[in-house]
Amino acid sequence: MSQRIDATRIAALAEGFGGEIIQPGEGGYDEARRIWNGQIDRKPALIARCMGAVDVASAVRFARDLGLPATVRGGGHAIAGHAVMDDAVLIDLSAMRGIRVDPAGLRLTAQGGCLNSDLDRETQAFGLATTGGVVSHTGIGGLTLGGGIGYLMRKYGLSVDNLVSCDVVTANGDHLVASEEENPELFWGLRGGGGNFGIVTSFEFRAHPLGPSVLCGMLAWPMDRAPEVLSMLRELAAGAPDELGIVANTRLAPSLPMVPEELHGQPIVALIVCWAGSIEEGEAVLRPIREFEEPALDAVAAKPYVAHQRMLDPGAPHGNHYYWKSHRLPALTDDVVAIVHEHAARITSPLSLVPIFTLGGAVSRVHEDDTAVPHRQALHDINIAAAWLPDDPEPERHVEWVRDFHAALEPHSDGVYVNFTSDDTPDRIREAAYGPEKWKRLVALKDEYDPSDFFRFNANVPPTGTA
Ligand SMILES: Cc1cc2nc3c(=O)[nH]c(=O)nc-3n(C[C@H](O)[C@H](O)[C@H](O)COP(=O)(O)OP(=O)(O)OC[C@H]3O[C@@H](n4cnc5c(N)ncnc54)[C@H](O)[C@@H]3O)c2cc1C
Repeated sequence: MSQRIDATRIAALAEGFGGEIIQPGEGGYDEARRIWNGQIDRKPALIARCMGAVDVASAVRFARDLGLPATVRGGGHAIAGHAVMDDAVLIDLSAMRGIRVDPAGLRLTAQGGCLNSDLDRETQAFGLATTGGVVSHTGIGGLTLGGGIGYLMRKYGLSVDNLVSCDVVTANGDHLVASEEENPELFWGLRGGGGNFGIVTSFEFRAHPLGPSVLCGMLAWPMDRAPEVLSMLRELAAGAPDELGIVANTRLAPSLPMVPEELHGQPIVALIVCWAGSIEEGEAVLRPIREFEEPALDAVAAKPYVAHQRMLDPGAPHGNHYYWKSHRLPALTDDVVAIVHEHAARITSPLSLVPIFTLGGAVSRVHEDDTAVPHRQALHDINIAAAWLPDDPEPERHVEWVRDFHAALEPHSDGVYVNFTSDDTPDRIREAAYGPEKWKRLVALKDEYDPSDFFRFNANVPPTGTA
């Protein structure tokens, strides 16, 4: 049973609140507390569904005044379920999805609860795009504040590399702007330090011309070709033009009409590409991939960018149960390739996936000290992502598969991308997600902006004296 809050306090919050206040037992409560990972079933004390920055500040002050913990929900995709906690005030940004595009200035401004699909839809209407994630229903809030990787990053940098400014509500309920000019140290920390320092009610990004039609899609081979395909990816990662966004993926092939029947249910290795340049140049760059060995599936063609950005959505529906662990890998060495092949072939669920993102390009040209994102020279992020249906009688075997796979890669790891952490320990967040130099600077910021650790349901940077 969730803790009840005094009705007069709620009435006071409701006064002047533009959004919706949802209490336990009220219609909509169960829907509003649900997030992407169906394993998370928590009951907040109250849900403050905000319409704008003023509501967010009111919700922050409300929780503080009552001495209640608070969580922040953007797109609700943090696998550990940071967006919702038992008996906390849930500050819900999911109704804050407004976007303004300035095509002449090549800028866009997006409210803090926007999803990738919102950004893509609004920017593509003007033939523009900015780096976002590869599943359209992921929130830009958590994704951006942790770094933001996606198909366009090798050309245009991470999501944070495109940030121009943020409107922030602090742990005291104050409004601030963070940019290179205003509160620059806070701006540094927001670019990789997650939701530790405040709630971003509005993000301003640079936008770039793209499409609307781009050369993109998937090529796939049977899993026994994984060593050759991943070695080819190693070569590509070392020298490909920045325009080439490329993600390898291993999984059991779904029984879809586009997939040749002999592959249905079989382990496959795929390369998902997105070429951020002219179609003709892209065809030339992709030719060696197609010719090295004829793929069993070749679904690469000129398509609307927004369609490509939705391509992986069916593989990550809301409500399934999920568990993942991840590494940042300096390179796909022969040893890494052999481990990936061995463990990917032992996949335990038709719903699980192992994407391997290729970094490099513009990501690696941003100076290590310019943002809180570390490991700028690493070439890959691997995310060993298990998924199963809620009624699966043996969920432990999927979790075990992830843990074994992850442990085997540990000696080759350069750390972890903070947005792909899950049940990682505080030590791993400090050492592997950030490292000592970034950590020192992040703790100093936390001391300044959130000394009571009000924003603690995240990949937490505890203030001095509380760790
Ligand atoms: C299906 C799927 C696909 C993914 N694909 C990618 C990908 O391609 N690239 C990539 O980089 N990552 C990807 N991720 C990881 C993703 O970046 C993280 O899960 C991220 O936390 C999602 O943000 P969210 O707003 O949806 O989540 P939430 O759970 O709502 O929030 C995550 C954290 O950020 C905080 N937060 C959210 N919004 C704000 C805000 N406006 N201000 C302050 N704090 C905020 C929350 O409090 C919480 O601590 C993917 C995740 C999933 C589940």
